[in-house]
Amino acid sequence: MKKILLIATGGTIASKRTDNGLAPLILSEELLDYVPDAREFCQVDSLQLLNLDSTNMLPEHWVMMAEAIEARYDSYDGFVICHGTDTLAFTAAALSYLIQNSPKPIIITGAQKPIDMENTDARINLTDSLRYACCGKAHDVSVVFGGKVIAGTRARKMRAKSYNAFSSINFPYLASIQDGRIVHYITSDCSGRPAFYHSLNSRVFLLKLIPGIQPDILSFIEDRYDAFIIEGYGVGGLPDDGERSFLSEVERLVQKGKIVVMATQVIHEGSDMTVYEVGHLAKEKLGLLECRDMTLEAAVAKLMWILSLTGDPVRVRAMFNTTIRYDLLFS
Ligand code: ASP
Repeated sequence: MKKILLIATGGTIASKRTDNGLAPLILSEELLDYVPDAREFCQVDSLQLLNLDSTNMLPEHWVMMAEAIEARYDSYDGFVICHGTDTLAFTAAALSYLIQNSPKPIIITGAQKPIDMENTDARINLTDSLRYACCGKAHDVSVVFGGKVIAGTRARKMRAKSYNAFSSINFPYLASIQDGRIVHYITSDCSGRPAFYHSLNSRVFLLKLIPGIQPDILSFIEDRYDAFIIEGYGVGGLPDDGERSFLSEVERLVQKGKIVVMATQVIHEGSDMTVYEVGHLAKEKLGLLECRDMTLEAAVAKLMWILSLTGDPVRVRAMFNTTIRYDLLFS
């Protein structure tokens, strides 16, 4: 029987009603008590690492999770992390960079309703996660939620309330799980020791463009950050109209050695700055990096991981454009 470690971090799945709303109060052992059937197909231990609403999750917590797994890696066949859904996709992406090429599966799950409610998705999500963690074909970091398995770099919370809260963005689901049966769509071979990383540089800023936004906002914050993701429109471009021109502001950042990455507000299909003049000029003139089909969560986490290893713009570019755990298809 496979040996799995359940790591509890809080979230709705572990929440109880309080006078001030739902708060994470259910501990890891109690979570397991709600899925007694899992003991028929795996042996599970539990670890209470955090107990947070994931609104309060920080990059330091992602490192803590990776280190908790590293410390116990040889003692278990797989790991299941229970997490709040709000920032689950960021954690999944961050762990995909902090733990690379792991033959043992690291599954992240959560729920839209607490596990102690009669009608809840929590028990099925947790059981599915434990089941997937036991199957021989699962490797690396994945999200299991609503009967779907999503690569850790491709998850996005798309619905605030429904049970099918997560989608796989610009990439197929890895598997689906129904009535305890796993149907694999994408499998890969993975052997050897994983690479564990131990730090992140959280000096990454995200700026979402709206029509009329003042580009000089960048000059107020530039000293506080090493990398700027600009979430523009459509396939991508920078406003360049008279006094509201981003081109000169961004050029100044690039000359100072800051990393600037163009992303798109459109969730599906990704960016391609070569299509329109407004994007082409910015890309050619300023040599901006581009998210292309990468999710925003993956781009944020990847930059934090890369910047913890190097600040050299040439190396940052090469690493950002290298595919890790299916995060980037276009090159
Ligand atoms: N606010 C909760 C959290 O992210 C939402 C959830 O878990 O569904 O911790």
